[in-house]
Amino acid sequence: MKTVRTRSELNECLDKVDRSRLGFVPTMGALHAGHLSLVKRAKEECDTVVVSVFVNPTQFNDPKDLENYPRDERNDLIMLEKAGADIVFMPDVKEMYPEPDTRVFDFGQLDKVMEGATRPGHFNGVAQVVSKLFALVRPAKAFFGEKDFQQIAIVKAMCEGLDQSPQIVPCPIVREADGLAMSSRNALLTPEHRAAAPDIYRAMKAGVEKMGEMTPAEVEEFVTEKINSNPLLEVIYFKIVDALTMMQVENWKDSEAIQGCAAVRAGNVRLIDNIRFV
Ligand code: AMP
Repeated sequence: MKTVRTRSELNECLDKVDRSRLGFVPTMGALHAGHLSLVKRAKEECDTVVVSVFVNPTQFNDPKDLENYPRDERNDLIMLEKAGADIVFMPDVKEMYPEPDTRVFDFGQLDKVMEGATRPGHFNGVAQVVSKLFALVRPAKAFFGEKDFQQIAIVKAMCEGLDQSPQIVPCPIVREADGLAMSSRNALLTPEHRAAAPDIYRAMKAGVEKMGEMTPAEVEEFVTEKINSNPLLEVIYFKIVDALTMMQVENWKDSEAIQGCAAVRAGNVRLIDNIRFV
């Protein structure tokens, strides 16, 4: 495994690589088994795998969140070596943004709801960094976790505006044994909030069970109340949406793919998760 920190070192490494068989996994580090599942999938489908580790400041709408975001470079490298990554790109902020990125992306309605509505500017920052990374790495395939369900729709929409774009490969959510979706932010939970957090997935699963007797709006309310009944958790939103447009659905028959997406505050930590309904 080669670790590089600059664009020119990355270019040098990629010079001899067959880009048509190149896979890419962008991450913000503090890696866990969810990230590694993407690396594993990339290895299965590609000859060479690049992983980037970069905490992208432009996607944080809250400076405190950026400051507190977990970082563990040494352990990340150990995990990536074990997982079989070929190249790790770990740039610093100056390397990624030699000049401020002032691009403004237009995602129509896609970024006006859920994460987009509650974290203003977040997806614009995601698009800035992902487009820069795609231009540098130029992979054939890029692997993204369904944990960040709306992000996949945003990245796909962003790719429509690019000359050359990789195939976006969505990968399933990896969960802890108790059902909590793995996240770098889980490390920031107090023991009490960590114990409460699996209630998010439990409530969403209970919501899926109610589909036969409730409308989507009723299930939204049911799941929201169930999560909020734990005093350590506070729902920011729980929305049942069309899996492509992210627009709320009125009936279960309105769409071929329907997802329930949640953001929940657990103490100082903001958690997201989602589940398939249809
Ligand atoms: P992050 O480091 O949080 O920006 O995540 C990097 C990539 O890993 C994104 O595509 C995430 O969706 C994905 N990811 C994060 N957590 C999980 C998980 N529990 N299961 C699957 N993929 C995940």
